Formats: sequence, C-alpha cells, structure tokens
Amino acid sequence: MFVVMARTAGEAEILGVKSAILGEGLTPYDHVGAERTVIAVIGEIGSRKAALMSRLGGLGGVESVTPISRPFKLTSREFHPENTVIRVLDAVVGDGSLTMMAGPCSVESRDQLFETADAVAAAGATILRGGAFKPRTSPYSFQGLGVEALRYLAEARERTGLPVITEVMEPNQVDIVAEYADILQIGTRNMQNYSLLTAVGRVARPVMLKRGYGATVEEWLMAAEYIVSSGNPNVILCERGIRTFETYTRNTLDLAAVPLLHHLTHLPVIVDPSHATGKRWLVKPLAIGGIAVGADGVMVEVHPRPEDALSDAEQQLNLDQFRELMAALVPVHEHVRSLHADPVVSGAALGIGGSEGLGKH
Ligand code: PEP
Ligand code: MN
Repeated sequence: MFVVMARTAGEAEILGVKSAILGEGLTPYDHVGAERTVIAVIGEIGSRKAALMSRLGGLGGVESVTPISRPFKLTSREFHPENTVIRVLDAVVGDGSLTMMAGPCSVESRDQLFETADAVAAAGATILRGGAFKPRTSPYSFQGLGVEALRYLAEARERTGLPVITEVMEPNQVDIVAEYADILQIGTRNMQNYSLLTAVGRVARPVMLKRGYGATVEEWLMAAEYIVSSGNPNVILCERGIRTFETYTRNTLDLAAVPLLHHLTHLPVIVDPSHATGKRWLVKPLAIGGIAVGADGVMVEVHPRPEDALSDAEQQLNLDQFRELMAALVPVHEHVRSLHADPVVSGAALGIGGSEGLGKH
C-alpha cells in the first residue's frame, strides 16, 4: 500500500508515518515528489491490511492510503509519477533526449574497440557498449576478454568522454565490473538471477536490465523491483526481443512493451533491435520503430568489420551503417518527441490505484 501525504505535511508527520510502518515490522520507502511525498509500505502485510490502512490513515499529515494490487511497487508510476532521469557523466537517460548506446557485441582488441568508439562518438552516440564477459549459448564460442576488455573500455571512455556499459554475469564479478564501467548490464539470460539482481542493487552504478527472452512484462518489472528495493533506484529497462514461434528473426521485438512500460513504470526504456532481429538490415527499421513508439533510446551493435566479428557477426552494423542510422533516427526522434510529450504517461500518473488488468490468456 502507499501512504499519500498531504501537500502540507511536514517532516515530523512524515517521520511519524515511517516509524509506525517500522513498528509493524514493515519497511517504508518514501518518494519525495514535486508536489507531495508518497510512502510505500513494503513487506508481508497479509491479514493486517484493513486495520493497517485505517491506522495509517488516521495519522497526522496523511491524505489517503491506497491499496496497490500490482506486485511491483517502487518501480510503479503510482509511487513515483515523474520519469526517472539517470545521469552518467555527460549522458542523460530518460529526460526526453535520444540515448544512443553503440559499440561492438564483444570487445575483441584495443584497436577494434577504439576504432568503433571513435566512430560512434563522432556520429553522436551517447554511451559506448562492449561485451567483456559474454554469455554464449555454446561453451566453445568466444567467451570475451574479461578484465582485459574492462581496461580497454575504461581507456575508451577517457578517449571519447562516453560512459561505458558492459554486462556483468555473476554476483562475484559485480565489484570489478563496477570499478571499470559506468553502467552495469544484466543480460536476458540473467533477468531472474535474483542473487545477481540483489548484488547490482547494492552498488552505486546505474543498471540496464534486459528483458528475459521468455519473461512477461510483469516478471520483468518484478526483476527491476529486486534491484530498486535493494537500494539502487537507477534502473533502465531494455526490450531486446522475446522468443516466439517466428524463426526468420532471432527474437520478436515487442514494441507494445514500450508504451506499456511508460504507463506502468517511471523507469526509462531502451530498445535493442540488434539482438531482437539478429539481422543487420532489420536493425534500422526496428530502431526507428522503437523511437517512434516512444523509447528513450536504442542500443545497437557496431563493429568496424562485422563479417570478421567474433560474436553476433550477422547483426552488427558497420561504421557507415551506424552513421546512416543516426542520420535517420535524429529527425524521427525530434518529431516523435512532441507527440509523446505527456499523454503516454499522464493517464497513469493521475490514476493512483488504477487497476487495468494484466490478465493472463
Ligand atoms: C548483449 O547485449 O551483449 C547481449 C548478450 O544481449 P542479450 O542479453 O539481450 O542477449
Ligand atoms: Mn551480441
């Protein structure tokens, strides 16, 4: 449940509500919004619900107490109506600007990374990607350069000024990856690795959580809830395609998830058309589609010589193709930005306690 404080509520009244919640053995999380403070009550409430609602509702400074039927709380728009805006170095994600994450699937060498980094930075990328620890379907495939790649990524950041994002696959890698990278990526195969989610929830680095290829939107938001409830509010969601019966594309890009997420959550949403399609020539139209439906940005794989890439050779753009993609996306983003200015989110922001079904069928 959420305790909505009156606009006039002061510090002492907010503290009073929080200590009442703690006294019940539950945890209060407060969000200080532009207009008012909302306090989420987290924990197993069970049969205490009615009594607790009326008790908290009677405390000083409380305007209303709202039961929330959705399982995700801290990531929901009801709790936090304004968009979450994440700043890393000079990049800003979620403020309406176009976030472009670009770089190779895998960091293969210093030269390959620097050549890519220089080109994508010059073309307007805002964040540099590159895999150091690679989750490969086959144990015989290239597994990534590991810590050596992390060092190259840090050098590429110095060179270009771009923050870097790279995947962390295990809880015991979190500290070393966080030492070198600016944003930690959780890959599709690890979306429900709860010990990893909790571990990245404890570090002071934004996290990009890719959607599990078999995960529902609700399961995805619950995974994000693990990270936020562990103490890290800076989570970016990345739609990278889900597995369906279709085989022409590597996955099926769920574009409906983008406006749906903007409705359900305050977290920024990125679309990855590279892993979604698995085909170079499909990346540009799907990137445009992602921006058109209101995504905060795109992640694409770029390699100076994609045909020689050690991983995902068929889906990486070459440097010219990335420049063409940027030239196409910037005007689309400019145009679409005015269309999406508010309506997508405002309905949800107003609807505290709203309950449109997330029915199963
Ligand atoms: C990646 O972005 O490097 C990656 C492995 O993607 P995914 O987890 O979406 O397959
Ligand atoms: Mn890849």
